[in-house]
Amino acid sequence: MNYIIFTDLDGTLLDHRSYSLEKAQEALKLVKENKIPVIPCSSKTQAEIEVYREKMGNTDPFIPENGGAIIIPKNYFRSLPGKENNHYIKIELGIPYHIIIDILSNIKKSTRAIIKGFSDLTPEEISVITGLDIVSSELAKERSYSEPIIIEGDADAIHEVKEKVSSSGLGFLEGRRFHHIFSPTVDKGKAVRILINIYKDNVSNAIKTIGLGDSLIDLSMLEAVDIPVLVQKIPEQYDKRIQLPNLIYADGVGPEGWNKAVLSLLR
Ligand SMILES: [Mg+2]
Repeated sequence: MNYIIFTDLDGTLLDHRSYSLEKAQEALKLVKENKIPVIPCSSKTQAEIEVYREKMGNTDPFIPENGGAIIIPKNYFRSLPGKENNHYIKIELGIPYHIIIDILSNIKKSTRAIIKGFSDLTPEEISVITGLDIVSSELAKERSYSEPIIIEGDADAIHEVKEKVSSSGLGFLEGRRFHHIFSPTVDKGKAVRILINIYKDNVSNAIKTIGLGDSLIDLSMLEAVDIPVLVQKIPEQYDKRIQLPNLIYADGVGPEGWNKAVLSLLR
C-alpha cells in the first residue's frame, strides 16, 4: 500500500510551545524508511516550513498559509503545470499578498480601530507577541497569501473591521492574539485534494491518504483524506469541534500523539 501523510505543524507534528518534533522521531524514521511522503500543511509561510523540512530531511511537496499554494520540488513529478522558479513549481490558489495589503490599508483609513498587520510590525515586535525567536519572526513576515492582524479597540471595533474585511471579499478568522485575513476561496482541504489528484495521476491510483491535525482549521484537510487523525491539544483533550465518522483519536498531545498514531497505522 502506498501511503501519503498530510500533517498540520503547530500543535500537531510540532510541540505547541517548544516547536520541537522530537517526540515524533520514531514514526518519522519509519516513514522515511518506507519512503512515505510527508506533506506539511500549515498556516506557516513557505520560508518557515522550509526550516522544518530541512530539520526532517524532507523533500516532499508542502502547503503553506492554510492552502494559499501547493509548492512542489522541481522534477518531483514527471510533468506539471504551474509557476516555476529555481527550486519549485508553485500552484497558487490564494489571493496575492499585495492585494490583501492594499485592501487592508483602505480598511485602516475607514475605521476608528487601529489595525496592525505583520507587514506593519518589526520581527522584534512579532517575536514579543508570538514567542517566536527573531529569525523565525523574520520568516513569518515573508507572506504570500494571508496576513495576521492585531486590532486595537473594543468588541465593536473588531466587529466593524470583520464586516469591512468580509464585504471586501476577504476571509476573516478570529484568533486569540492575531486575527487572520486570507482568501475565502481556499482552505487546507482544497489544496490537499488537488495534491492527492496529482499523486494519483503521476504515481498511483492506489494511494491511501492519512491526515493529522489538532484544530478546527484542520477540519477541511481531515475531510479530504482516507484516514483522519486528531491529536490531543492538552492531555486527554481533543478539539471537540472536529467530528468525523472515521476519525482516529491519537493517544497523546501533539507530536507524541502523531508518533503513536502513525506507528500503529503503519505497523
Ligand atoms: Mg495546529
